[in-house]
Amino acid sequence: MRDFSADHRWLSINTATVRAQWPLDRIIGECARRGIRAISPWRDQVAVVGLERVATLIRDTGLELSGYCRGGMFPAATAAGRQAALDDNRRAVDEAKTLNAACLVLVVGGLPGALAGHAEHKDISRSRAEVSDGIAATLEYARTVGMPLAIEPLHPTYAADRACVNTLEQALDLCDALDHSRSGALGVAVDVYHVWWDPKLQSQIARAGRERLLAFHVCDWLTPTRDLLNDRGMMGDGVIDIPRIRGWVEAAGFSGYSEVEIFSTQDWWQRDGGEVLDTCIARHRSAV
Ligand code: ZN
Repeated sequence: MRDFSADHRWLSINTATVRAQWPLDRIIGECARRGIRAISPWRDQVAVVGLERVATLIRDTGLELSGYCRGGMFPAATAAGRQAALDDNRRAVDEAKTLNAACLVLVVGGLPGALAGHAEHKDISRSRAEVSDGIAATLEYARTVGMPLAIEPLHPTYAADRACVNTLEQALDLCDALDHSRSGALGVAVDVYHVWWDPKLQSQIARAGRERLLAFHVCDWLTPTRDLLNDRGMMGDGVIDIPRIRGWVEAAGFSGYSEVEIFSTQDWWQRDGGEVLDTCIARHRSAV
């Protein structure tokens, strides 16, 4: 297992972590200034600054993208809705390619309409089938441009509104069905916040192997958690044994970045952005 205690060369910052403080162009500058070598930006943050400008900043600073957030949200109540989702995912693949991202992260979607508060049906198995179809179609295009897709299983609390793929096992079953040859075009994003509780986590990480492990996201699970979406903790402040999970991921062959992804309305989004990044660096060394 790699020793992170002496430097932060394998730290990546998911730019949602300081989204409340700074626009993306400032985030890129602040990360580069601190010797942070990688980021993972969100599409809406890129759109505000402009894709070409972000691409130029990425090139000029030499930053890498450990991922691009995000594609997915495949299920819809109508054929037109599903087609719109496919079109949007195609654009996301193209943006990820322009920015030379390591992968496009997929948050696959749940029951149509649930995110807006009105689920249009209660058939989660239908949603799961639509997710499979949506990933298959997107994969077909992503292969042609060489952009790997990373399915991110989300904690079951998000099954209705954000993702009906809720365990690593489920995500890997999709990978096996859609990319049987383990080509590297389809894999998973392992986010400790979503999967730390899973009794099968270690065995499923081993099953994933190097070809399927495309991203590793870290933060911490606080007790109590005040908000299930936006109360993620800084590494070391909660109950997740992050070094143990990183050990499993690295034993399976993963050698990429540890991407810090913290949504925190009441704490980290209230602080100075520089303090947040400096704390990420310190905790990357001591708690990841
Ligand atoms: Zn994540």
